Amino acid sequence: MFKVIIAVLGLGFFTTLCSAQQVRPAKSAEIYRDLKTLKRMPKVLYLAAHPDDENTGLLSWLINEQNVETGYLSLTRGDGGQNLLGTEQGAALGLIRTHELLEARKLDGAQQFFTRAIDFGFSKNTDDTFKQWDADSITADVVWVIRKFRPDVIICRFPPTAAAGHGQHAASAVVAEKAFKLAADKNAFPGQLKYVNVWQPKRLLWNTFRFGGVNTISENQLKANVGQFDAQLGMGYGELAGLSRSLHKSQGAGTQSVAGVRTEYFSHVLGEPAKATLFDKIPLNWTEKAVNDVDDLIDVLLLSFDYNHPDKSLHGLLMLRKRISELQDAGLKKDKLAAIDKIILSCTGFMGEVVTNQPEAIAGNSYNFRLNVISRSASPVILEQVNWINQTDNLNRRISGDSLVTIERKIQIPADAKITEPYWLENAAKNAATFSVANDTLIGLAENEAALNVSLLLKIGTDKFTVKLPLSF
Ligand SMILES: [Zn+2]
Repeated sequence: MFKVIIAVLGLGFFTTLCSAQQVRPAKSAEIYRDLKTLKRMPKVLYLAAHPDDENTGLLSWLINEQNVETGYLSLTRGDGGQNLLGTEQGAALGLIRTHELLEARKLDGAQQFFTRAIDFGFSKNTDDTFKQWDADSITADVVWVIRKFRPDVIICRFPPTAAAGHGQHAASAVVAEKAFKLAADKNAFPGQLKYVNVWQPKRLLWNTFRFGGVNTISENQLKANVGQFDAQLGMGYGELAGLSRSLHKSQGAGTQSVAGVRTEYFSHVLGEPAKATLFDKIPLNWTEKAVNDVDDLIDVLLLSFDYNHPDKSLHGLLMLRKRISELQDAGLKKDKLAAIDKIILSCTGFMGEVVTNQPEAIAGNSYNFRLNVISRSASPVILEQVNWINQTDNLNRRISGDSLVTIERKIQIPADAKITEPYWLENAAKNAATFSVANDTLIGLAENEAALNVSLLLKIGTDKFTVKLPLSF
């Protein structure tokens, strides 16, 4: 696996590495799933307190069967948990658990979010928890994630009562309820509105459970059957969930992979109650969103999709991209353009990377890098421009036909490049229960984006695509 190269100021500083976001094509089954998701409008945010609190079976079903964009907001990074694998504790353990969670997300396909809250260890109830957690800053972070991600449905793992067990679990529900009401209020956290708009989710539900002796399920609650077999995955969603949960290795959280359909239950909390499904009275597709033609275009693409030659879909995808780029709804346009661009790049079989042999770099020094790009599409992909951080090449070079193009270049790391480190650990924590983050717009992100990227301008058909490739080793 490639790693993002780290920038080191002075001598002797080594910091934790991030895994690189190299651009690789998705498999055909994933492209097909992403096409189905392109057609669907609802979004779900699952919310709890720790890595491994989430209901991965439900997340897998939402993403792969319901084809809705889904995120998991874990208020903390699990800094106060046990560590069965090593000696790391506190923030270092939180970093390990962040990456365990990201590996789980690669399996189920959900997006991952966090707040600035620190897992300070066990607390008995919400009063105990809010003596340590700054309720206002954590609520602000949840409001920010809601306004940025724009979920229609928020699902809490826990209730705000003693039935939640751990005080941080109950507190996660308290914060979710507050944030549900405040996200649509323009007077709440107005500083955020420079970057995002207010947002009102349709409903907040609690995913009731039977854990040990506690049973919060009742038959009059909203139900959803999950766990079905998915031929594209070669397993049921309960089996995928078992694999995903077993990635929480520091917690020894190996979980059985359970085959077969089972029922999940939801208790109404806030917003408009649902009678039949999680998505009652929420537009499901483009037609219900009053946007014509798009559903038809996607249906044609799904019907004609060729698993061996996804590039045959390129013409239709470019037509669809044009249609989506004409949308008035800025939020929807941004989401769906990002999704279709990812699909288009995958359909061309595009791979891009910028690599060196050095695992770390010193600001101001120069290093030899190799840009490798390849496209496996029969249709031409043109590499128009390469921006090497401090110089730009205009190339207009065709990169189709499964033929690797390599360009070598010496790149100077900018003299003002910062030390590479997790953004929530850059400054000393505000206190034992809250991280300090200098740049508010980073809040919510699972990890930093790479600071040093080579940027490519590609032409596919007549459309232009910008692709960022992190400097890696
Ligand atoms: Zn927990």
